Amino acid sequence: MKTKIIRGGTVVLAQTVSQQDVLIRGEAIAAVGQLGELAADEIIDAGGLLVLPGGVDTHVHFNDAFMGTVSVHDYRTGTIAAAFGGTTSVIDFANQPFGGTLLSTVDMKKEEARGKALIDWNFHPSFTDTSDRTLAEIRACVAAGAPSLKAYMTYRDEGLLVEPPDLKRVLAAVAEAGAMLLVHAEDNDLAEAGIARELAGGRTAPIYHARSKPHLVENKANETAVRLARETGGRLFIVHMTTAEGPELIAKARAAGADVWGETCTHYLIYTEAMLEREDGLKWVCSPPLRTQADVDALWPSLVSGLLSQVTSDDAAYWMEAKRFGKDRFDLIPNGMPGIEPRFHLLYSEGVAKGRLSLPRFVELVATNPAHIYGMRQKGSLLPGKDADIVLFDPTARWTMGQATSHSPCDYHAFEGLEITGRVQKVFSRGDLIVDGDELVAEPGRGRYVHCVLPERLSI
Ligand code: MN
Ligand code: MN
Repeated sequence: MKTKIIRGGTVVLAQTVSQQDVLIRGEAIAAVGQLGELAADEIIDAGGLLVLPGGVDTHVHFNDAFMGTVSVHDYRTGTIAAAFGGTTSVIDFANQPFGGTLLSTVDMKKEEARGKALIDWNFHPSFTDTSDRTLAEIRACVAAGAPSLKAYMTYRDEGLLVEPPDLKRVLAAVAEAGAMLLVHAEDNDLAEAGIARELAGGRTAPIYHARSKPHLVENKANETAVRLARETGGRLFIVHMTTAEGPELIAKARAAGADVWGETCTHYLIYTEAMLEREDGLKWVCSPPLRTQADVDALWPSLVSGLLSQVTSDDAAYWMEAKRFGKDRFDLIPNGMPGIEPRFHLLYSEGVAKGRLSLPRFVELVATNPAHIYGMRQKGSLLPGKDADIVLFDPTARWTMGQATSHSPCDYHAFEGLEITGRVQKVFSRGDLIVDGDELVAEPGRGRYVHCVLPERLSI
């Protein structure tokens, strides 16, 4: 097997930050330590660079048909953008076909990824019905290596809505099958009423998207989901939490013994709803909506305290042409923005470089925790035996993020003009160099399906 040594970099391994060498043998990390003059087929000088595990982004939408359009990123363009952004594993979503089976999503996604995925991947099967027949399939999804499933508490028109009584049945079935349920938590009754109220008043600009779904819409759904998790014992993961009250609810739920976890996304840590008041505000319409500075200021400390366990991109890129469906009506704007490539850089620059996160905590939030929570057992850290998914990162580089530096085909950038500290230099996936500076040096199609196995208990 071919060997490589990454020599003399600053290695982040759990809570330790120190100068070490990393030996790669074949696809895996073979050793981390002072390897001296040990010979290898290839020596890579990492002097002055950070040596980090590749990012794990468990919340991305590829080929997602939604709100009258389909997301820009597929397995080729999405995973290429991910890799340039320091991410070496992704977990996508797949809606159960209407009238079809939950398990059919496994073959569907494998087909979508075939010949296209540059990096390793998995997906979350998402419910479009909660019949007993569908719930009986959860076990088969777990056996197929897709043990994290998703339910939407809103989006009736998209055929995704799961109402609370059904959500309880789903959580009970998830508990029994040893799976985990992700929820998109927005109270549907409040959301529908809020949208109708704004439209009836002639308030149709993008900012009214935020007004139509204020904090209460999310907080109430969070409370419902947490209550049902407590009643059933099901493991609950609340995606894209945006409000200051969200992490407090997680603290209370855990104190009461519930198996409840949560994340936030990069855009909620950087932007407020003020973006929606811009002339091009429709670019930042997403759900839940961007919030206030007070929320942003509460989310950062909850990443440090551990109430929130990870930061994802919720990459849901739509062409400007599609975003403009709703230029005169906020409720017709496809919800979401591109973010898969910016995530790792943003969290380092806004988190570590600005003193909000320690370097080890950054690594936990961007790689180690998502790999652990979702059962990508061979990913997320530089421990010997893990896959050699490694990022060499220059912590001092300064550059401007935007379309000019993007590797996504999307025709707008959600973080245009942001000044960034730190830059990915090289990316390895299972020992292969896939990104070298600004060059893609591997062929899409090499990425593999990761068979995920959830940890019996989550303790992070
Ligand atoms: Mn969502
Ligand atoms: Mn999403």
